[in-house]
Amino acid sequence: MASVWHDAGVSSHDVLTLHRARLTDGSLVDLDVIDGRVSASRPAAAAAPEGATDLDGWLLLPALAEPHAHLDKALSAEMVPNPAGDLDGAIHAWVAALVDGTVDADDIADRATAALEKLLVSGVTAVRSHVDVGAATGTAFVEAVGEARRRLGDRMQVQLVGLCHGPIAGDDGAANRAALDAALDAGLDLVGGCSYREPEVDEVLDHLIGRAVERGMPLDLHVDETLAVDVLTLDSIARRVLDGRCDVPVTASHCVSLGMQTPEVQAAVSARVADAGVSIVTLPHTNLFLQGRAHPVATPRGLTGLDALASAGARVCAGADNVQDPFNLVGRSDPLETAALLVMAGHRLPERALEMVSGSVFDTLGLDRPGVAVGDVADYVAIDAASVREAISDAPRARRTIRAGRVVAAVDESVRID
Ligand SMILES: [Zn+2]
Repeated sequence: MASVWHDAGVSSHDVLTLHRARLTDGSLVDLDVIDGRVSASRPAAAAAPEGATDLDGWLLLPALAEPHAHLDKALSAEMVPNPAGDLDGAIHAWVAALVDGTVDADDIADRATAALEKLLVSGVTAVRSHVDVGAATGTAFVEAVGEARRRLGDRMQVQLVGLCHGPIAGDDGAANRAALDAALDAGLDLVGGCSYREPEVDEVLDHLIGRAVERGMPLDLHVDETLAVDVLTLDSIARRVLDGRCDVPVTASHCVSLGMQTPEVQAAVSARVADAGVSIVTLPHTNLFLQGRAHPVATPRGLTGLDALASAGARVCAGADNVQDPFNLVGRSDPLETAALLVMAGHRLPERALEMVSGSVFDTLGLDRPGVAVGDVADYVAIDAASVREAISDAPRARRTIRAGRVVAAVDESVRID
């Protein structure tokens, strides 16, 4: 397999014609793109127009997007081993690596760059990543991941969330809260943190929501990663939005415990989530890996209440969370892998699974959705597959990533059977 980053600089005023793009209805079209948006669409010409990019009948899909990465941790599985394999083992291993200096800012900038490159060649043009912020790290990790973002340039839109270390509440949390404030000043886009790992949940929520509201910044919380039914922080968050205590966009990540509630509780909470306009991010890779280890019989899958949220009309998208690090040892940095898990473990149909790693992510990130209609944002992944189902199933690496009207990455694949 060969992959290429396209380094040719192209201004936003350039014109791109995509020739012989296969749409999901099977039709072949030529698309003109000006200023990053579709300016014309017509049945494919018999011969390639001069200067056009010939997609050779590859399937043209809206660009993929990753709503929940941890770029500072990505690709560290060998550097920071987690022999226990569970969440506590991962946290212990990661904290030890921070303390002994195994992980530092230079290393993070390089690994985060590599992780973004993997996403880019998979067809991803928008990423939201959480980044550790706390007394132990200061703003160093934010600056390191920010450097990786700069290296990618305008090939990708990257949003950074401050993942505030705990404790956050009380006197013991003062240094971590101060670090979050410093990191927000240093260029973060969103406020974040874990709202389930210390007993003072209300105090943690009040602080993080308060910071987001004061600064007019969106919020993205690690709501819970537990199978315990007595934890239902998601409901507390939705109620705070509904009663007017939080007027900024809110994303609730993981929300594992919702999947463990009775159907009645799932329905009631999901209705409040939908009313509040809270976006949910489910993360099958890591929650399948981490959750359920104490349940050898009928092992829970660790996903959120997907059916109840869908019935209530809540916005739900999906990401990979941790990739090849102590929190999840595997992962290809390919949202089509996430989509396959949504089909197999989440029981979504392929078209819905694709939507959850594409259009719904752009909505959650507050970005315009790509599309093929005139006027739509022209961010795409073109892939050597005949249908959405086949693209998710085979996930061929042969792809073109198109961002703002230019081809920004290309992967070709040749196979020989002797
Ligand atoms: Zn996470």
